[in-house]
Amino acid sequence: MEPAAIDERGKHARWLERSALTASAAVAIISLLALLGWFLDLPLLRSVLPGHVSMKPNTAIGMLLAATALASCARPGRLPPWVSGWASLAVGLLGAATLSQHLFDIELGIDDLLLPDGLESAVGRQPARMSELTAIAFLLVGSIGLMACRRIGAWFAQVLALALLATGLFALSAYGFAMGAENLQLPFLPLGLNTAVCVFLLALGWLVSQPGGGLARVLASPGLGGELGRRTLGPALVAPVVVAFVAQLVVGRNWLTEGAAITGMAVASGLFVTGLVWWGADLLDRLERERAHSRQLQASVHTDDLTGVGNRRAFDEALAALLARRAKGGSPVCLLMLDLDNFKRYNDTHGHLAGDRALRLAGALLRAAIRPGDLAARYGGEEFAVLLPGIDQERALMVAERLCRDFRVADWPDAPVTISLGVAEAFAGESPESLVSRADAALYLAKAAGRDRAVAAQSPSA
Ligand code: GH3
Ligand code: MG
Ligand code: MG
Repeated sequence: MEPAAIDERGKHARWLERSALTASAAVAIISLLALLGWFLDLPLLRSVLPGHVSMKPNTAIGMLLAATALASCARPGRLPPWVSGWASLAVGLLGAATLSQHLFDIELGIDDLLLPDGLESAVGRQPARMSELTAIAFLLVGSIGLMACRRIGAWFAQVLALALLATGLFALSAYGFAMGAENLQLPFLPLGLNTAVCVFLLALGWLVSQPGGGLARVLASPGLGGELGRRTLGPALVAPVVVAFVAQLVVGRNWLTEGAAITGMAVASGLFVTGLVWWGADLLDRLERERAHSRQLQASVHTDDLTGVGNRRAFDEALAALLARRAKGGSPVCLLMLDLDNFKRYNDTHGHLAGDRALRLAGALLRAAIRPGDLAARYGGEEFAVLLPGIDQERALMVAERLCRDFRVADWPDAPVTISLGVAEAFAGESPESLVSRADAALYLAKAAGRDRAVAAQSPSA
């Protein structure tokens, strides 16, 4: 993969990591507020909507643990590595214990550990006990945390995170009914609004916390798919909830019949999906054109107009990058400095336009002669440089001699042109200036020896 693409992927992976951390921070804040609501007896902080189901103290503690597990897994290194595992285990056990109380109708005495019984308002069944749905969500969150962070069953953990997401979405959309209905005691919705938001955020956080693989992989991708996913997944998740919420509210308040609400939901969903697809298609189209344009610009910034080979900037950048790699023990790098022979006389005899034609053909000959991965560039005037990574001086000299032959036998439009070349192989740690000046010195020797030839540079020790 190109270094730029790796950079892009890293950028998006960091964005996903930040999203997971934000989700975990939001969960922590919401649950801390709920705890505060219990201690200070402020119903607004416990339940968001006065009179509605509140987040139980145990739920708030479980959410805090779950947020800690997510944060320590999303950004490893800040907290000790065992934090995520133990916090997840605690959340899972809390969920399992509460669920078994519900299922087997037993009393383990864990519901009012923090606050004595009786503080809960009129809403709720066992006053301080979290609902079945919250207990199931905790069981899921605990299992996801135990697996995802250890990279065990990453695929399965993501399926569980999707189940958790569905739980959160269900609870959120069903809340519309709770808000619309006269009777707040809904048998199927014993989940506080704040709890439902936390479940939703935890699910999203765990889904994006592992950008290396699985479902989140495409979200970290620098490609068009990644761009589409990052921009559309959020609306795609939230919009159906909003539609369902509104429909439930409308039915609950008896503003519309159930049939009319279902029809309205279908129409709204259809319009939304159509809009999202249209928007996604437009986005991809625009991005593709922008990318093609920027590729063109990028190429033109690095290309010499007259000859079509790289320009001085392209040469300087490539040389610096190749020598930096060579300094770190990378493969050999050779440089050919190439100069057209007696070109001043050529211009004087045939005119500057003929000279330009010859330079254009020189560029074409160079482009045809090099392999992918090599770089030919116009160094200035009638001088060119060719960078040959991965070969030693002996083989570079053979390439230079082949180039001499290519120029000798080329079909020149006005009069034949020959070239002289200096060949030098970079030693580890050599600076660009030193390599260019050694190749230049060899080129000077080739000119002095009668032109139309290649000469290899002296090794620096000689
Ligand atoms: P040598 O074999 O020693 O290199 O002799 P030379 O005449 O090629 O060397 P010199 O450096 O004296 O001349 C270079 C000539 O290249 C001078 C200039 O007119 C010509 N030249 C440089 N750039 C261009 C260009 O863009 N178009 C044209 N037509 N000529 C150019
Ligand atoms: Mg010349
Ligand atoms: Mg010259």
